[in-house]
Amino acid sequence: MSLVVVGSMAFDAIETPFGKSDKIIGGAGTYIAWCASNFTPVKQISVVGGDFPQEELDQLTARGVDLSGVQIKKDEKTFFWSGRYHMDMNSRDTLETQLNVLENFEPVVPESFQDCEFLMLGNLVPAVQRSVIEQLKTRPKLIVMDTMNFWMEIMMDELKKTLAMVDLLMVNDSEARQLSGEYSLVKAAAAIMKMGPKYLIIKKGEHGALLFHENKVFFAPALPLEEVFDPTGAGDTFAGGFIGHIARTKDISFENMKTAIIVGSAMASYCVEKFGTQRLREISKEDISNRINEFVQLVNFDIDLVG
Ligand code: AMP
Repeated sequence: MSLVVVGSMAFDAIETPFGKSDKIIGGAGTYIAWCASNFTPVKQISVVGGDFPQEELDQLTARGVDLSGVQIKKDEKTFFWSGRYHMDMNSRDTLETQLNVLENFEPVVPESFQDCEFLMLGNLVPAVQRSVIEQLKTRPKLIVMDTMNFWMEIMMDELKKTLAMVDLLMVNDSEARQLSGEYSLVKAAAAIMKMGPKYLIIKKGEHGALLFHENKVFFAPALPLEEVFDPTGAGDTFAGGFIGHIARTKDISFENMKTAIIVGSAMASYCVEKFGTQRLREISKEDISNRINEFVQLVNFDIDLVG
């Protein structure tokens, strides 16, 4: 039984108020794999060009990421994305998106991935995400989907088709508003859950994340950090921590999802401390438990009810 991750593997160029990176390794699938592999083995589905460093693939393999679902298109270029963050570090502008290998990507699910119990659809072309669901002979226990405004702007109908097939959607607050046409996040959540997913996570950057299911809501804060160096990949890292915890514990109850959100938030708080995937490559199991404990302290309080 396994966790299958689908998502972009990319080159990114990032500008923040603190500095500028050259072309560095990025991609939603990359962040998810680096993060989730702390908790459970990962089977990865993606595509890269001949320019993607073999060393990066080797490092992922060494961490327990099975890359047999990653196609290498020798004569093509890897997906490229560049973005610039505003001073508040919560909002950013996409400067450039070069789809390259993503343009005609047709994923092939290897036979050895058919034991997929948990499926994490990281940010990618919605039809590609859907194709992976359709190729699985047995429906996974939990299908989680992430997406972004880019796909809402150019292929909303395609995105909604995939949305109808998943159990849980993760988006940020502005994407939830864009998808639902509602400003209130509570109304937006109700509208989105009518489109298919029974669970919805709305990420609010430095203001934490909300989990909705039926008429229940759970809120997890983000750790107040002195300095956010680069928020790129925080959402994907959150997804990797969330699904990594769920896959490790094999428990898809609402209660366990609350813990999974704390794990995701703890991992995301590490991700933003350095450029790109750098910090995720450095942290140890001990660092992870320490950070999760900080979260427990952050939200733990006693209360005497009045009356
Ligand atoms: P996040 O900061 O969590 O939203 O994710 C940032 C990552 O998403 C970057 O590493 C990009 O390479 C990747 N990304 C940006 N745009 C797209 C897109 N249209 N499709 C797939 N991945 C993307």
